[in-house]
Amino acid sequence: MQLNAKARPRFPTLAGFCFHPAMPLAPALFDLQINGYAGVDFQDPELTENHLHNALDALQATGTRRLLLTLITDQLDALENKFRRLEKMRARSPFIAEMVCGYHLEGPWLSPEEGYRGAHPGELMCAPDLAAFKRLQEAAGGNIRLLTVAPEWPGSAEFIAAVASPRVIISLGHTNASEAQIDDAIRAGATMVTHLGNGCPVTLPRHDNVIQRLLARDELIACLIPDGAHIPPYALRNFFRAKPPGKVLLTTDAMAAAGAAPGRYRIGRLEVESRDGVVRAPGSANLAGSCLTPAQGVANAARWLGIPVSEARAMFSKRVAEVFGIDLPMIEFR
Ligand SMILES: [Zn+2]
Repeated sequence: MQLNAKARPRFPTLAGFCFHPAMPLAPALFDLQINGYAGVDFQDPELTENHLHNALDALQATGTRRLLLTLITDQLDALENKFRRLEKMRARSPFIAEMVCGYHLEGPWLSPEEGYRGAHPGELMCAPDLAAFKRLQEAAGGNIRLLTVAPEWPGSAEFIAAVASPRVIISLGHTNASEAQIDDAIRAGATMVTHLGNGCPVTLPRHDNVIQRLLARDELIACLIPDGAHIPPYALRNFFRAKPPGKVLLTTDAMAAAGAAPGRYRIGRLEVESRDGVVRAPGSANLAGSCLTPAQGVANAARWLGIPVSEARAMFSKRVAEVFGIDLPMIEFR
C-alpha cells in the first residue's frame, strides 16, 4: 500500500538529511551458545566485569540482545566459582543482567570418547550427578537454562527426569548414545540436540552413527551452526530439510576469536588458533568453537538454505526466545 503525498507523515530533516522513520523492525538476535566474543573468553576464571561488558557491547553491535553465556567442562569447584562471579556481575550491571539472560552448561556430563568430547578435557567427564547440578544451579542463581548431556552415562534418564523443566532445557550433545539411550532421554524430558553434526569424530560409519540417530528424532529441536565449517552448506540444507517445521534453531557456538582478528585465543585451558574463519587447537582436526558472528550466521543460513532472511532470523531470535520463555526486544534492522 502506498500513502498518498498528503497523508504521508512529515519527518524532521537536519542539514539536508532525512531521518528515515520506516527502518524495519525485527526481533533482536538471541544466541543460545556462546563461549566468548571479541577477544574475551567467558571461561576465564579471572573474567572481569569490564571485559564482559566490552564483549557484550560488541555483540550488541551485531544486533544481539540476549544470550545464554556458555561454560564448558571444568572441575565442579571451578564452574561454581565462575557462576558466582558471573552472578555478581549480573547483580551489579543491569546491562549484563539483561544481555546474559541465562547460562548454557556444556559439560562435564558428556562423552569422554575421543572425537565425541571435541575440545573438552576428557579426564573431567563423568556421569551426571543431581547433587552436583543443584550446587551449580544454586551458584548460577537458578539461571542455568540449557544443559547439554550425553545420555549414555548410567543414571542419565533419572537425572534428566529430575532436572528437565520449562526452566532447564535438556539437550543431547557430545554423545555416542544408542537409539535405546536416546529413547530413554526423550522419555525423561530431553528436547534438544546441541550443535547437531558436531561433537563427534570427523569420520563415522556411513549410516550407523549418532548424527543419523539424532537427526531422525522429530521430537528433538536441532541446533545448527551456520558457519560453513562446522557443517558444509549442503549438509546444513539436508539437516534443515530433515527436521519438521519449527524444529531448528541457529547458534554461533562462538568463542573469543569471534568479532576479533585472526590469531591465537583461549577457550578455557585450551589455546586455539583462528585462521581463515575456522578455530582449531593447533595441529588438530577438531573445531574448538567458531568465530562466527550471529548476524553473519543469519546471512549464511538465508543464503545456503534458500529461505527469506526473516525466516533465518526467526531461528536465531524469536523461536529461541519462545523455547526459553524470554521476551525479546524489537530492533531496527537494515
Ligand atoms: Zn560443544
